[in-house]
Amino acid sequence: MKYGKPIFDQSKLKITSDKKYFPISWLNTQGFCEYCIKLEYHDEIKVGPTKAMLKGTQEHSALEAKFLEEAEETTFEEMMESSKTAEMLSREMWVESESYGIRGYIDEIWMTPEEFVIIDDKPGQRAYSSTINQVYGYCLAFKDIINDDRRIVASLRQRGTDNIFWVAPFDTRVERATIELVERVHRLLNGEEEFIPTKNANKCRSCRFKTHCDMKCEF
Ligand code: SF4
Repeated sequence: MKYGKPIFDQSKLKITSDKKYFPISWLNTQGFCEYCIKLEYHDEIKVGPTKAMLKGTQEHSALEAKFLEEAEETTFEEMMESSKTAEMLSREMWVESESYGIRGYIDEIWMTPEEFVIIDDKPGQRAYSSTINQVYGYCLAFKDIINDDRRIVASLRQRGTDNIFWVAPFDTRVERATIELVERVHRLLNGEEEFIPTKNANKCRSCRFKTHCDMKCEF
């Protein structure tokens, strides 16, 4: 497999002023408790990262540094073309979908002549619906920026290992459901729908906003 780090033409990634984008990782937050999005981004409550978040950032940086030791600089277009005949791998690939108003970095993509495998690294090896929604969000954004019929596969990998513990095709049904979810988050951000707090006390117990939240469950 050939390793590539795409260099993007930033002029192609301009954000139009009338377009709202949100980070694809918010699909994960929304699945955990969408009231977190309200507290952090609407009410602008500042809380520090959790230990798990700091550890994740460190591990991400270490993996990226290791990858860059072997990677060759290339363009996204070159990677797409080369992958029609050879396997390519890229990390930390920026995707931005103007159609859906979402953007973010994909942890890793395997490009092969048959398919694109979109990988999101997670701590542990449990596929929560919220993390699945996040990786589907990356698939949606990726599909939107390519002009290619190869199938797209979503997968979750235990961070720092080769253990891919969850895999699913990004098919038409999943694509439709992901678009609906993205549209719901846009409606929340536009004030067209109410942020609904979780009723799961375990989530509130581990939530970094719990000391500021007026909707937390009793625990
Ligand atoms: S404390 Fe509970 S209800 Fe409040 S934001 Fe956190 S998870 Fe949601």
